[in-house]
Amino acid sequence: MKTVGVIGAGQMGAGIAQVSAAAGYRVLLSDVDAARAEAGKAGIARALGRLVEKEKIDAAARDATLANIAPIGDTAAMAEADLVIEAATEREEIKRRIFESVGKVMGPQAILASNTSSIPITRLAQASPDPARFMGVHFFNPVPIMGLIELIRGLATSDATVAAVEAYGRTLGKEIVHANDAPGFIVNRVLMPMLNEACFALGEGVATIRDIDTAVKLGLNHPMGPLTLADFIGLDTCLEITRVLFDGTGDPKFRPAPLLVKYVEAGWYGRKTGRGFYDYSGTEPVPTR
Ligand code: NAD
Repeated sequence: MKTVGVIGAGQMGAGIAQVSAAAGYRVLLSDVDAARAEAGKAGIARALGRLVEKEKIDAAARDATLANIAPIGDTAAMAEADLVIEAATEREEIKRRIFESVGKVMGPQAILASNTSSIPITRLAQASPDPARFMGVHFFNPVPIMGLIELIRGLATSDATVAAVEAYGRTLGKEIVHANDAPGFIVNRVLMPMLNEACFALGEGVATIRDIDTAVKLGLNHPMGPLTLADFIGLDTCLEITRVLFDGTGDPKFRPAPLLVKYVEAGWYGRKTGRGFYDYSGTEPVPTR
């Protein structure tokens, strides 16, 4: 595998392009147009510049990584990719359209993978040219820092496809885990019920925001409390994934906490909106209840 196509140059796509280019792959990076693809590459250049300042990499490594990334404005160029990773906006119709257009140009051996957090892989595979060469490759944010990739095989994914994508993931220095195509895969299946339960506990008056976070952080030796983490991920995203678990399994244990729904309805999404369970307008986050 030599050339990796990345579709979507946002937070995740740029990260995937960066780690792939740093590992020596030639990367074709696309977005809705050439300007957005260029902006994605410019963001990677800034991220690499910070790594040079911190002396984590040298200037030569930065230049070599950037030289491997070609921003492209037209899906036709993806014809050269051995592996195409879709990391566009989490909307099924957008992803389906991308698979249909890239499917027309991809080589007969090329693999198509989606970084979706929540859409069933087997269903998405139906929009791809060959479901045997389609699978989920779920990176974590921020991609250059997080050491895990979840690989998700759809019903029709071939062993050869899984082996090729696993080999690619290992060359990035990531740990690989395999999950079946079930809602939330592994990480979100385990994490989201915990965050949702923290919202239930807060809503039921079990404890304050600070005490729930302190209890879980110190009592379970987690790096941060669940409400801090939910604010970091985005309460809208947490609710969306919890709904995927609830709808996908039909199991009432996944029902979203009413307080989480209320916060999202209020537009209090967490860090990104300046308020969630904490208020981020000052120098330090302040609990809101
Ligand atoms: P983002 O909003 O930062 O980036 C999405 C990019 O896709 C944007 O640059 C947008 O312009 C582009 N895009 C939209 N339509 C497109 C099209 N038709 N063709 C090409 N590009 C198009 O979002 P993100 O956080 O990078 O998420 C991307 C994917 O990664 C989603 O499927 C998301 O579920 C998944 N994911 C996100 C995280 C996370 O923590 N952010 C973690 C794992 C997986």
